[in-house]
Amino acid sequence: MAHPYHHAMSSQKRWGGSLDDTMAIHEWFDASKLILADFRHRALRHHAEGVFMAETLFGKTITLSSGRMIPTRWIGEQHVREDLGRIPSFADWARAIRPEPWMGRTERHAITIEDRGEP
Ligand SMILES: [Zn+2]
Repeated sequence: MAHPYHHAMSSQKRWGGSLDDTMAIHEWFDASKLILADFRHRALRHHAEGVFMAETLFGKTITLSSGRMIPTRWIGEQHVREDLGRIPSFADWARAIRPEPWMGRTERHAITIEDRGEP
């Protein structure tokens, strides 16, 4: 599954209501395509923390146009499962990142004992 529209169709089939009821949530999950056009964009939001972030942004529940109230988390879990087959943690994604020297670079602090006025 690739497009928010298809995820919204799946949500409608599962829980009723209209496509617009869940479209914004599915669009939020896939908005990371703006910064990376291939599947690696999913590392930003397609994980357990992303599902909980959606809940923070869209509320703990949404009310469908049918009047039915459902947990927002259900929509996020559906989206991630449809794309990845499971709900990974962010740690799963991080383990797939090949470490580069610049990632661990730290500035040397120029402050010395003399700068702090200590003997
Ligand atoms: Zn997606």
